[in-house]
Amino acid sequence: MSKNIIGEKKKIALIAHDNKKHELLEWTRENKSQLSRHRLFATGTTGTLLEEELDLKITKLESGPLGGDQQVGAKVAEGEIDFLIFFWDPLEPQSHDPDIKALLRIAAVWNIPVACNRTSADFMITSPLMTKQYSRSIPDYQAYRERLKQKASV
Ligand code: PGA
Repeated sequence: MSKNIIGEKKKIALIAHDNKKHELLEWTRENKSQLSRHRLFATGTTGTLLEEELDLKITKLESGPLGGDQQVGAKVAEGEIDFLIFFWDPLEPQSHDPDIKALLRIAAVWNIPVACNRTSADFMITSPLMTKQYSRSIPDYQAYRERLKQKASV
């Protein structure tokens, strides 16, 4: 296991599917002062709505179905996003289902916190860890990276 520091100022990505955007807007309104202490990212449409609502600076990526979820996933892998609030819709199939699955997978690979619904987001935003540095464990992937080298030398 290696360690990576999630700083006091978290790099938070916010995403909501269309049927969940209202819920995320309400939640961000309730938690605006907390969120304003962190660096915020969002997929395109979610970000535009949140900026209008919150008057906070948000780095907007592409819309989810147009590659935004993949951009968030890439930033997680690169350590540029260390916290995910993703209100996904459990009742409706999405055109970009593979991208959603990929993002949730990458979040698990890199062991970052993920809130998939309002209750988990409430628990997470009120955690004392939100205002502290946190030492995140990252599994040791070096053996995996080097697996072909080992095979090649046999
Ligand atoms: P959107 O994307 O914020 O551009 O609507 C969200 C998603 O569907 O992943």
